[in-house]
Amino acid sequence: MLLRKSYQRNGRASSFLKWIVVDDIDFKKTEQQLQQLKEDEEKRLDEEKEKLCPKCLVVYIPKKQEFGHCVYHPAFVFSIEKNKTLTLNQAEQECILARLEGKDRPPPLIWICCGKEFAQAGQGCVKGLCGLPEELAKRTDIDWIQTDPVTVVQQSFLNNPLYQKKLHNIIANLEKKHKRR
Ligand SMILES: [Zn+2]
Ligand SMILES: [Zn+2]
Repeated sequence: MLLRKSYQRNGRASSFLKWIVVDDIDFKKTEQQLQQLKEDEEKRLDEEKEKLCPKCLVVYIPKKQEFGHCVYHPAFVFSIEKNKTLTLNQAEQECILARLEGKDRPPPLIWICCGKEFAQAGQGCVKGLCGLPEELAKRTDIDWIQTDPVTVVQQSFLNNPLYQKKLHNIIANLEKKHKRR
C-alpha cells in the first residue's frame, strides 16, 4: 500500500509536530486496481449477453438463469449397429443420414447415462446451470476465444471415464450372456 506521510506545524505550539498520515489509496487508484475494475465491468457486461449453452445447446443469459434451466445428458451415445460411441452431434448426424437413406426407423442409439433411446430421450436426464461444466471452466490451458465450447464439452462427455466404464461393464455382461447360450 502506498502511503504519503506529511506533517503540519502547529502555529501556537511549534514544538509539537503533528503527523497526518494520508492514505493515498482512496483517491489514487493503482494501475492494478484499475485493471481489476475494468475486468469486473467486462465480466458484468458479459453475464448479460446471450450465449449458447455448450451442454444443452439452448441460448441463455448467465445473469438471468436459475438452477434447473439446463437439461442435458452428461454422457455419450452408443450405436448398437456400429458398436461405436458417438457425441450428441454425431448421433444427430446418424439420424439425419438414416432419414435421407429412406429408413423408416431411426438407428438404434442409446444414451449411456440414462439408457434411453436417443430419438426418444428428450432434452436430458440431468438438470443444472447452463454454461461450461465446472472442471472445464477451471482449465487455463484452453483458449475459449479460439475454441468451440460445444465441441470441447461433447468430447469431455464422450471421454467421461465414469460412463466409459459403465459401457465397458455392459458390453462385458452382454458377452458373458452370449457365451452361456
Ligand atoms: Zn441421459
Ligand atoms: Zn444449458
